[in-house]
Amino acid sequence: MDAEQLREYGHRMVDFIADYYKSIESFPVLSQVKPGYLTELLPESAPNDPECLQDIFDDILQKIIPGITHWQSPDYFAYFPSNSSTAGFLGEMLSAGLNIVGFSWVTSPAATELEVIVLDWLAKMLKLPNQFLSTGKGGGVIQGTASEAILVVLLAARDKILRKVGKKSLEKLVVYASDQTHSALQKHARVLVPDIAGIFPENLRVLKTDLTSNYALSLEVVSEAISSDLSAGLIPFLYVGTTSSAAVDPISELGKLAKAFNMWFHIDAAYAGSACICPEYRHYIDGVEEADSFGMNAHKWFLTNFDCSVLWVQASQENAVVDFKDWQIPLGRRFRSLKLWLVLRLYGVANLQSYIRNHIRLAEQFEQLITSDSRFEVVAPRTFSLVCFRLIPPPNDQDNGYKLNHGLLDAVNSSGKIFLSHTVLSGNFILRFAVGAPLTEDRHIKTAWQVPLSDFASLDRIDIKPIHYILLSFRRGLNLAKLIPNSKHSSANETTVNVELEDSGTLLSRHGASRPALGRITTTLMNKSVDRKTWDCPRNPKNY
Ligand SMILES: *Cc1c(COP(=O)(O)O)cnc(C)c1O
Repeated sequence: MDAEQLREYGHRMVDFIADYYKSIESFPVLSQVKPGYLTELLPESAPNDPECLQDIFDDILQKIIPGITHWQSPDYFAYFPSNSSTAGFLGEMLSAGLNIVGFSWVTSPAATELEVIVLDWLAKMLKLPNQFLSTGKGGGVIQGTASEAILVVLLAARDKILRKVGKKSLEKLVVYASDQTHSALQKHARVLVPDIAGIFPENLRVLKTDLTSNYALSLEVVSEAISSDLSAGLIPFLYVGTTSSAAVDPISELGKLAKAFNMWFHIDAAYAGSACICPEYRHYIDGVEEADSFGMNAHKWFLTNFDCSVLWVQASQENAVVDFKDWQIPLGRRFRSLKLWLVLRLYGVANLQSYIRNHIRLAEQFEQLITSDSRFEVVAPRTFSLVCFRLIPPPNDQDNGYKLNHGLLDAVNSSGKIFLSHTVLSGNFILRFAVGAPLTEDRHIKTAWQVPLSDFASLDRIDIKPIHYILLSFRRGLNLAKLIPNSKHSSANETTVNVELEDSGTLLSRHGASRPALGRITTTLMNKSVDRKTWDCPRNPKNY
C-alpha cells in the first residue's frame, strides 16, 4: 500500500462518486441492459500487465454504469430502500481502510467494544427493554443481512429446544410464520435444510393472512396450528413475524402465546424497525419484551450503507468480553459498527427522526394521489412509507387485473423514470411504492405519479415504448448511442437524454435498424468522460 497513491486515487474515486450522485437523476432507474451484455464488452481474461486508472474509470462509465440499477436514485421506489449517506459512506471507507478481521475481542478490542456500545445506543433509541442491552446481560450484534440474522436465530432456537428434548427430536420441530413473512425464512427452511438448520421442510407452517386483519397474523390461526401440531406429537419451537405489505403482527399477544408454549419468538422488523425511533411509531413494537430476539436493518431505512443488519438477543452473557464470532455464522467479521457510529453521531437522534417522518409524509402524499384518482385503489392500509396499490380492473376482468397491473409495472419500469416492485396480496397482483431513498423530495413524488404512472395508466393499451438508437461520433470513434426518448429535461427543440455507448457493430446486428430521433441531443452522461456536447441528430442513423 503506497499512501501517496492511495491519497491520489482515493481523491479521484471520491470525485467520481460525488459526480455520480450529482448526475444520478439522469440515468434510467432500472438498468435497461439485456442479460449477458457485459460479456460482449469486456475481454475474456484478466490483463497481464497493469492498466491505468483512467481507462478503468472510462470502462466504469461506459460499461458498468449502464448495468446499474440506481438504488440511490430519488426516483427509486422498489422493494425497500437501501440507504447510503455521507456518514455511512465515511464509516464504510474507514472500515475498508483499517481492514481488520475482528472475530474475537483481542483481534481489535475497539471493534467489539464499539459494536456493543453503538448497539446499546440504538436499543435505547428504540426503547428496547433492558434485557436486550449489554448492561442487561443481553446485547446486539451486527449481521450482514436480516436473512443471516434469521438463520442465526433459527440455529440458536433449535439448539435451545434440542438441549431440552434431545437431539433425536429434530424431525419434530415446527417453525411458524405468516404468508407475509420474508421469503428469507422459507429459503432457510427449504433450501438450507437439512445441511444447516436441519428443520424438516414439511414442518414450516406458513399461516394465511388476509385483508380482514390488514395482513397481520390472527391469533386464532396461530393457536389452532400450534394445537394441531401438539396433538400430532410435534414440537412448536419458533415463531418469526414480519411482512411484504408492511403489516404489523400483534406482537404482544403472539409473544405471550409463544411463551405459553415455550417457543422462541423472533421479531423481524428489518424495514419498519427504523420508524420505531419516533415516539409516535414506537407503539408498533409494544410487546417486544416478550420476544427472545429482535432484528432491524440499519442498511435499509437508517442511512447506514449496506451491509448492517442489527440483531438483539436476550442471551445470558456472563463473560467480561464478547467474542462475536460465536454470535454469527462466519468466523471473520468486518468493523461495521463504524458506519452506524458515524451515522448516529453525524445526524443525531432528532435528525434521524425527522428523516423517517419526512418519508412517511411523502408516502402519505403519494397515497393521496392514488386515492384521489378513481382508476386506482390502495389495497392495504399504509402504516409506514410503503403504499400498496393497483389499477382497478374492469368488472369481470379475466384475471382480476393481473395483466393490467403487470403491464403498467413493466411500462413504468422500462420507461426508466421510476422503479417500482410488486407483491401478491389475496391472490391479486399489487404494485408497491416504497419511499425511503435519502434524495427523494416532494417533487419526485409528484413526477413519479404524473409522468409514468398516471400517463401510462390512461392509455387504452399499455405498450412499452421502443428505445431509439442513433450513431454518434465521439473521441473514441463511431459509437451507437441508445436514447431514452421520454427523457426528463426536454423543450420544443432540445431534449436532454441519457446515452449509453456500445460497440456499434454488435449493437446494430442485435437490434437491426433503428428509428431516427428528432431535434437536438445533449448528453448528461457524467460530464467527466464524455464532454458535454450538442449534436444534430441524423435523419437516418444508418447513413450517418
Ligand atoms: C428486507 C427484509 C428482509 C431481508 O433483508 P436482507 O437484509 O436483505 O436479508 C427480511 N425481512 C424483512 C421484514 C425485510 O423487510
